[in-house]
Amino acid sequence: MNQVRIAELAWPTYAAKVKNGAAVLLPIGALEQHGPHMSMNPDVLLPTAISERVAAQVGALVAPAIAYGYKSQQKSGGGNHMPGTTSLDGLTVTSIIRDVLKELARHGVRKVVLVNGHYENSAFITEGVDLALRELRWDSIRDFRCIILSYWDFIDQKTIDQIYQGDFPGWAVEHGGVLETSLMLHLHADLVDMSQVRDHPPAAFPPYDFFPIRPEWTPESGCLSSASRASAEHGKLILAVCVQGITDALRTAFD
Ligand code: ZN
Ligand code: MN
Repeated sequence: MNQVRIAELAWPTYAAKVKNGAAVLLPIGALEQHGPHMSMNPDVLLPTAISERVAAQVGALVAPAIAYGYKSQQKSGGGNHMPGTTSLDGLTVTSIIRDVLKELARHGVRKVVLVNGHYENSAFITEGVDLALRELRWDSIRDFRCIILSYWDFIDQKTIDQIYQGDFPGWAVEHGGVLETSLMLHLHADLVDMSQVRDHPPAAFPPYDFFPIRPEWTPESGCLSSASRASAEHGKLILAVCVQGITDALRTAFD
């Protein structure tokens, strides 16, 4: 039995770990198209894999991932018009985060790390944390602490240079590109088919959003940049950098 996955523990084991002060990592993803070459769940699988490795290092636990997220935006996720992409309203994301945090607090958990895997979730995660902390204060719980992070923010310039060789398109258009595809090739190769990668230049957008959406702004593949240079080797490196960076951050922030 994997000792970090909360869902796979019997409750007395879980309660004992919480009593010992274990932190909980909560991966937050999305069900979102990621191009013709990859499954629709990288935003769930990648923060989950990172969370499990970090938890093993620091003696923390991992809650089941939230498998749906906020609406895909055209300039960061291709857009919410794409088939398969299945999204929540912002209020729903916020409420899910708030409710899960309050339940963890009720169990006695006092340290939570919200590990985001889908760019569009960010502000709604922050709002859920803020509402949970406010409501916990009403119950006189004032020692509940949260870290909010997105895993790609831990990839340093040296790693970016090594992988992109000076051709880094920016995280905004990395949707379905080299970053996520490389990690998936390393962690879940069975969910990637590199023969289906469409090689096209990074998507170019005007400096504003337009609604209703103009589908023709999104590359036909649904990816915002090409994954053709993705590799399992890059994925292994990115994973190691993220796990180490997040592990160090937790030790610093919670100590
Ligand atoms: Zn993604
Ligand atoms: Mn996404």
